[in-house]
Amino acid sequence: MYYLKCSQCAEYSALRSEYITFCEHCGKKFPLPYSDWKAKHLQGTFEMFRQEAGVPEARYTAEMRKRHQRRFDLRKKAALITGFVVLIACSALGAYYGPSLFRMFREPAVPATMLNVQNWRTFRGNLMRLQTPLSLSPAAATDQPNMRVKAFKGGGRAEGLEIRMQEAVYLSSAHMDLQRAATEAAGELSRLSGISDFSYKADTLNLEGELAIWQHGSYRYQQSVPMEFDHLVAVKGGSRVQLLVTHRGDDDTGRQVAKKIMRSARLN
Ligand SMILES: [Zn+2]
Repeated sequence: MYYLKCSQCAEYSALRSEYITFCEHCGKKFPLPYSDWKAKHLQGTFEMFRQEAGVPEARYTAEMRKRHQRRFDLRKKAALITGFVVLIACSALGAYYGPSLFRMFREPAVPATMLNVQNWRTFRGNLMRLQTPLSLSPAAATDQPNMRVKAFKGGGRAEGLEIRMQEAVYLSSAHMDLQRAATEAAGELSRLSGISDFSYKADTLNLEGELAIWQHGSYRYQQSVPMEFDHLVAVKGGSRVQLLVTHRGDDDTGRQVAKKIMRSARLN
């Protein structure tokens, strides 16, 4: 087979017949197709035209191979350059944000197996009980002059989800207002160290006859890690109980687990 090289786009068209007049790739007319050539070479044949104006198969194949190799080299070069740019950008960001950037990259998500409620257990506090995928154990809590505090904690970074429960008995008042207790509790959360961009929406939840306030919101941890939380606040007499579940911001499984925990809560 012989080929005609296009002077416009430099692509090759196979000289399959005497009627090849236009480039197969860009549609431009060849400067000297066979019909024009024949007008000047009255004795000429198509075979003579092909040998005079065409590119033989071997040369065509060699050229294609060379082009392919060049394209491949370019792609390799581009990949290498992209890799370098990403590396430089990351190390520049790393220098700027310090270890917190890497914490964000490594912040684990909640595994899907945690959604299987058959593996959940009941946790019973003094005021509230709930179903949980992680066991809760007593955590450090500081009493305040007018308040006795008990805290429990389960999970953490490794699990992608943390559950905290805090029960506070107000020594000075026999009755707490739910709305006020919830607003105060959210305020305390937002003032914890390392927390910024704190925002939430509140809803009420009926815990089999007892009203609770369910806050769902987000914050940023140490300026970088986007986090989400569900926070349930209920009161009983002069006591306030808070259930807090936190997980990574873009984690849908974490979101579902958190909601299941919230909905399982009951006052004792
Ligand atoms: Zn062309």
